[in-house]
Amino acid sequence: MPRDQNQSFAGGVKDELVRLPLGKSCCQLSEIGALTRTSGRLHFRSGGSLTVTYRTEHTGTARRLFRLLKTRLQVSPVLHYTQSPRLGGRRTWVLSLNESDSRTLLTALHMAETDDDGRMTIRRTVPRHPLTRQCCRRAFFRAAFLGAGTMSNPEKSYHLEWRAEDDRLAETLRRLLEKAEMPATVYERKGQSVVCLKRAEHVSDMLALMGAGGSVLKMENIRVSRQTRLRASRAANCDEHNSERMLDAAQKQARACRDISLRVGLFTLPPALRETARARMENPDLSLAELGAMMDPPVSKSAVNHRLRRLTEIAEHLE
Ligand SMILES: [Zn+2]
Repeated sequence: MPRDQNQSFAGGVKDELVRLPLGKSCCQLSEIGALTRTSGRLHFRSGGSLTVTYRTEHTGTARRLFRLLKTRLQVSPVLHYTQSPRLGGRRTWVLSLNESDSRTLLTALHMAETDDDGRMTIRRTVPRHPLTRQCCRRAFFRAAFLGAGTMSNPEKSYHLEWRAEDDRLAETLRRLLEKAEMPATVYERKGQSVVCLKRAEHVSDMLALMGAGGSVLKMENIRVSRQTRLRASRAANCDEHNSERMLDAAQKQARACRDISLRVGLFTLPPALRETARARMENPDLSLAELGAMMDPPVSKSAVNHRLRRLTEIAEHLE
């Protein structure tokens, strides 16, 4: 089954993000930190050893992470993929670090400390230093989106979210978003915290903040044409509504004139009313102004309106 439409816009955003330059050394570490929090797993082995693996379905993300780890930490992950027949043969990329590289990584991220005996203890906190600078916060949003983010197709709705498996990551994202003046909604879905932005301008701002300028343009174009379409259909509905009301009124007037004609005869009416009644009976779909123009001599819309009101009253009082 092809992926749904929602996936394709988000996929385009990810494709754009992974092509960005790796950036400053501080931001590289911030990206590695976010990807570790969202796509990384710690594996504890007997004897106290520990290794890290990453899993992602997005090829560009796997490649970017590989380059980040090599460039920033000089570690060499092993990259391979698994294919699950259960999920329609979807490919998942796996990056594995050996024990010593895992130690280098976790120490750099301040997620682990090695004591005097060479034993490592894990701290499950988001490293503090990458989040104090604006440049690193942008890198963090970006990599967290690559690791655990998605967004709806703006043709349908405005929604950008990060799934956070642990609550501390959700809290970190929420706090960072608040700092960036983008209030987020946090809720639970299938036991996971979801942090999301739901307003078009916030979604657009976030894309820009992460560095997805091309996607911002695409989204803004969609937004403009969506608004234009909405306005156009509202205007059309409005016109239709008015002309329906107009036609209703005209039908009622024509019926009144016919009543007079059948029951007492149009000749009982003064000449001006007689002429108007005839014109209305013959032209039940013309506007007041158009009827006025047919008169000899032509009369104003309000004069026609006045005459038709008189005719309706006369019909109502027919016995
Ligand atoms: Zn930075």
